[in-house]
Amino acid sequence: MKRPERVAVIGVGILGACVGWNLSRQGVRVVFIDAGRPGESVTNWSFSWVNASNKTARRSYFDLNVAGMAAYRELARTIGPDSWWHPSGHLRWADDAAAETTLLKTAELLTGWDYRVEVCTGAEVRRRLEPALTLPDEVLVVFYPDEAWVHGRHLVGHLVGRAVASGAELRSGTAVRDIGTGADGSVRTVALSDGSCLDVDAVVNAAGPRASHVAGFVARDLPMRHEPGAVTRISCAQVPVRRAMHAPHIEIRPDGDASVVLHSREIDALIDTGEEPAELARLLHESARHVVPELGNSRITETRISNRPIPADGFPSVGAVLSVPGYYEAVTHSGITLGPIIGRLLASEIASGKREAMLADFRPERFSL
Ligand SMILES: Cc1cc2nc3c(=O)[nH]c(=O)nc-3n(C[C@H](O)[C@H](O)[C@H](O)COP(=O)(O)OP(=O)(O)OC[C@H]3O[C@@H](n4cnc5c(N)ncnc54)[C@H](O)[C@@H]3O)c2cc1C
Repeated sequence: MKRPERVAVIGVGILGACVGWNLSRQGVRVVFIDAGRPGESVTNWSFSWVNASNKTARRSYFDLNVAGMAAYRELARTIGPDSWWHPSGHLRWADDAAAETTLLKTAELLTGWDYRVEVCTGAEVRRRLEPALTLPDEVLVVFYPDEAWVHGRHLVGHLVGRAVASGAELRSGTAVRDIGTGADGSVRTVALSDGSCLDVDAVVNAAGPRASHVAGFVARDLPMRHEPGAVTRISCAQVPVRRAMHAPHIEIRPDGDASVVLHSREIDALIDTGEEPAELARLLHESARHVVPELGNSRITETRISNRPIPADGFPSVGAVLSVPGYYEAVTHSGITLGPIIGRLLASEIASGKREAMLADFRPERFSL
């Protein structure tokens, strides 16, 4: 496939922003298209933890996530860290013996894979890292110093802003409602809900949880999971935590100077029982107060339930779909961690036509019949 001149990036969350910014840096004309506003979908309602410690199921997936962490450090050097990059490490501990054994086994495995891990006691954590926590003095806490959290919406704003300043177009508030192909089956146009139709040489499907709907425009079946998650923001006069953490039953991270984000897989399990978002938020807040009592003075500001964009086998779907020349996918869970590396690799594939070895296990064609 020859180098495309004009590429439509469909969906401007972290994935679309990273692919589009990288394409634009390589001189490709990019048009970003978002049905809503850039960065305001799942990317803004994520726990947003940049990590590889939770990705040990397959070595190639772990390696991709480690590359994702390195890509963030490089991105921060390239565009400046501003308000989006928070490389403060991650804490994790358990409150039962079986979970603690699993945690320590994982820590050992990761050490063997050259991933930086420190095991501390609760007392040390309070003294060195997080004075506001109530964890027991003797509990073992795993600290991953190279992990981070990211303000996804701010990062998307920076990347899209830079790309637009160097010539990219942004169409927000209008959805792609069809992709047109020529007689040879290759991508030619995108039709938008505002009635316009754009001539393009290629499209990147970065529509997050709506990716299988967009894939349907080129008659492609992209099977995806249903795995909703609830995230709550609470506002506080002073943020009492300095980094992201997995405490027992609750995940907590700062979200800037006056806000904290809460999430819990245990609470996510209640979503499909029909529990109201306000009740999910109350439960999250209650759990968080057990770990950080100062959060008792905070106020719940907003809660959002989003569906994680997860291809059916749990792994990313990234790259060209060879049966539809000019159609590419960038669809993944852990998209906060993976956005910058997938953006860089996929943009390079689109511009050069050469396949990147690191994406070999994550090709879209594994879902083709
Ligand atoms: C509760 C929860 C916790 C998470 N925690 C983490 C974590 O700690 N670490 C991590 O790495 N990942 C985490 N994730 C996953 C991560 O947030 C996502 O993988 C990532 O944000 C997906 O980004 P995206 O750009 O693919 O999707 P989105 O941010 O959803 O962006 C997709 C965009 O596409 C647009 N769109 C959709 N259809 C169309 C259309 N037809 N035309 C035009 N535009 C369209 C939407 O408006 C949207 O803006 C979490 C997710 C959830 C739900």
